[in-house]
Amino acid sequence: MPELNLNYVMMLIVPLPSDQKQTGWFMKILTVSDIQRLIDIVGIESFFSRLLIALKQDFARWSAFYKSARHATHYAHGVIELMPCSDDSLYAFKYVNGHPGNTAEGKLSVIAIGQLSEVASGYPLMICEMTLLTAFRTAATGVLAASYLARPDSDVLAVIGTGAQSEFQVLGFNGVFPLRQIRFFDLDIGAMRKFARNLLAYPFELVPCRSIKEAVRDADIIVTATAAKKRQSLFALEDVAPGAHIQAVGGDCPGKTELSHVLLSAAKLVVEYMPQALVEGEVQQCDASHVHAELWELVGGHKPGRENTQEITVFDSVGFALEDFSVLRLVYELACEHHLGTDMPLIPELDDPKDLFGLLSA
Ligand code: NAD
Repeated sequence: MPELNLNYVMMLIVPLPSDQKQTGWFMKILTVSDIQRLIDIVGIESFFSRLLIALKQDFARWSAFYKSARHATHYAHGVIELMPCSDDSLYAFKYVNGHPGNTAEGKLSVIAIGQLSEVASGYPLMICEMTLLTAFRTAATGVLAASYLARPDSDVLAVIGTGAQSEFQVLGFNGVFPLRQIRFFDLDIGAMRKFARNLLAYPFELVPCRSIKEAVRDADIIVTATAAKKRQSLFALEDVAPGAHIQAVGGDCPGKTELSHVLLSAAKLVVEYMPQALVEGEVQQCDASHVHAELWELVGGHKPGRENTQEITVFDSVGFALEDFSVLRLVYELACEHHLGTDMPLIPELDDPKDLFGLLSA
């Protein structure tokens, strides 16, 4: 499996040919079709494994990052967020929304666009679609957490909420765990049919369930990916088997949760970034003392993951900007390697950098 090399990414920041310099600094624009093409070339499995490597590398060098909780603007029906993260070489940010009512209007609940820039000059390198990439990075981060928290022999996965994120979750876990059976439930039967259709070609047994209880019973790993702007308790502690791992994806805003306080209190809880998780995650119902670790502490070996076969573990995923950084740097590397995207002059480049007005009088 190829290792990601940050020096290589920096080498790709190529000076432009002089004939392009008059019109502007060229940056890569990667559209939805460019990402489709990239995944087609690289393959879903291989993209997941490269992303897992990138995430692991970046979580392992946690102290090298300038980090902050995301900036969220809340509305009665949803949220719009800006998510920045940087090291000393690259700066990334993502624009993302969360509008659970959108699907009723034929729109996605979650869409995103991201940008990667070089820190040396502050100039942008790439603007990129990130709706697909958010689904990939959310699944891959969950799998990274599960590699420390779930039992390695986990072969039954339950998915509650079979919307846009759901198949990515299954395929991410499939690369690392010996999945045999996928149990699933959604309030929307159409979403369940779509999920089954998309996963038909894969060699798992697909088990549609009539209730959440039926889906989670005896599951080794449970993914909750529902979209509802309210406090929910999707299932009770007694509904899950001893030793289960829960990957809680859908509770990611103040007042938007999926698990009960009782369940959280009984589980070993891991979050991405405490200042953000305490506001947005399942742990908004508790306090920091309930949290066993941030994910980077497991990756760095500073704290243990699962310690026995009986404990219930929870990864309280809300989505942290470092994950967007990792996927953007990987995609930039792959886009350069495979000549994908369109180079566009979105920043002026001038013979005299103080003569911006000259652009208009020319
Ligand atoms: P989506 O709207 O496409 O799908 C959500 C599904 O949940 C729908 O099919 C809906 O019918 C179902 N649902 C709602 N309430 C339910 C319930 N009580 N029981 C069973 N099913 C229920 O949304 P999506 O893009 O798949 O995202 C799912 C959730 O994950 C959203 O809340 C989103 O904000 C969140 N999300 C989190 C991250 C992260 O990093 N943690 C990243 C992306 C999305």
